[in-house]
Amino acid sequence: MPRVSPFHSINEEKKPAAIRVYHDNSACAPGRDIPQFERRVGTNGYRLCDDCKKLNDQGR
Ligand SMILES: [Zn+2]
Repeated sequence: MPRVSPFHSINEEKKPAAIRVYHDNSACAPGRDIPQFERRVGTNGYRLCDDCKKLNDQGR
């Protein structure tokens, strides 16, 4: 199961607070799209990404 330490994109800050997300699954497509230089460790107080949640629920 590709769970990883929570990470988020620095670009989340440009979005409205309500839709900012963090990722914690390495199989998550939106998470994989975040270039390394835009990644920051931690949740930053954001909610978990829907794709990560789905993958985690499926045990992937
Ligand atoms: Zn995700």
